[in-house]
Amino acid sequence: MDTPFESPEVKIQVHCPQCRGDIAFLEEAHVIRCEFCGSLLFVTGREGVLRYVFPVQVQDSQNAQTLAIEHLKTLGRRSPRPIEAFLFHAPFWRMQGSVYRWIFGLKPMKVEINSGAPPPMERMKILLSRVLDHTIPGTIGLDLGLDNLGVRSQALVLRVLDREYLEKENSFLPLETTLEQAQREAERFSNLFFEAQDLLTEYTLNGFVGRTFSVVYFPIWFVACQHEGGEEVLLLDAVGKKMLQMAPDESGLQRKLKDEKSSLPFALQELSLLPFRCPNCGWTFPFRPYSALHFCETCRRLWGEKSGEWAEFPYQRTLSPQTEPAQKLFWVPFWRCRAMVVSGGERLETMADLYRLAPPPRVFNREKEA
Ligand SMILES: [Zn+2]
Ligand SMILES: [Zn+2]
Repeated sequence: MDTPFESPEVKIQVHCPQCRGDIAFLEEAHVIRCEFCGSLLFVTGREGVLRYVFPVQVQDSQNAQTLAIEHLKTLGRRSPRPIEAFLFHAPFWRMQGSVYRWIFGLKPMKVEINSGAPPPMERMKILLSRVLDHTIPGTIGLDLGLDNLGVRSQALVLRVLDREYLEKENSFLPLETTLEQAQREAERFSNLFFEAQDLLTEYTLNGFVGRTFSVVYFPIWFVACQHEGGEEVLLLDAVGKKMLQMAPDESGLQRKLKDEKSSLPFALQELSLLPFRCPNCGWTFPFRPYSALHFCETCRRLWGEKSGEWAEFPYQRTLSPQTEPAQKLFWVPFWRCRAMVVSGGERLETMADLYRLAPPPRVFNREKEA
């Protein structure tokens, strides 16, 4: 009874630290291979809020002006000519995650009944799930003709916004919507359009997991033109080459672009690429692009990311080396999660702790159940 669970394929573009080639990889990949120099790289730094930018398709102002003039001609403006054109970037919050909803309720049974009598009901539970991937504007109170990025962020390659890009391009609208506001919006979106059919709902349980928030900058051309009827400003989508807005709030836009906040250096969280080799012995790990942790087959240590660096993770195994015919086995990893409940100074960590608080109706072995 699940709704279709479609995960969009999003590609991220970075520079290879070895050869400077442009590598595009699937967003969920942890390990990537540079197609130019063959280097294996471990992608780290995703713990914070990352910033991306859409690759600009309309590169120079000449092309932008030509597009604007063509558009004005279709509107019947006479002898339009460009006066000014510049490119700027508008920030959007991108909110992603998976939403789950258990619905417990009553459903009419499909049985023959006498007319007039209500059908008998049966108890049902249904699990609904969907992928949430939505964008909201990061600049407040400015109509750019673009409320959200639609499916653009799911269909194109996103480039990591790095220092190199910031030095090349300098026109960015300020990011005014806070992360907390974006989180509240994501919470609201996760509860929208999510109902079970033919079910009389009694109780629901919601889960919104794997939340990630990133900032995506969208490039827009500002083109001012003159024609026989006067002057006009157009905003052009520098990716899809479409008109976004005629006669925008020009002074508001200029003011925000000159805003000190937008010229301040960004507190950047950057993706970084580490050599995909064991930090202890230098041996290359087996290439498993979607694994979070990597096992060194040479020194038999387990590695993963902590704060952008390689860190060793402890592991245990269920057989002792003596009993193991090593070549004939393959190993299946399990995460071991330990939980405890702390309430009013009480600390419950084991079954014995629980039984002390809520004694079972039987004799228990205090040592064994600890
Ligand atoms: Zn390379
Ligand atoms: Zn090693």
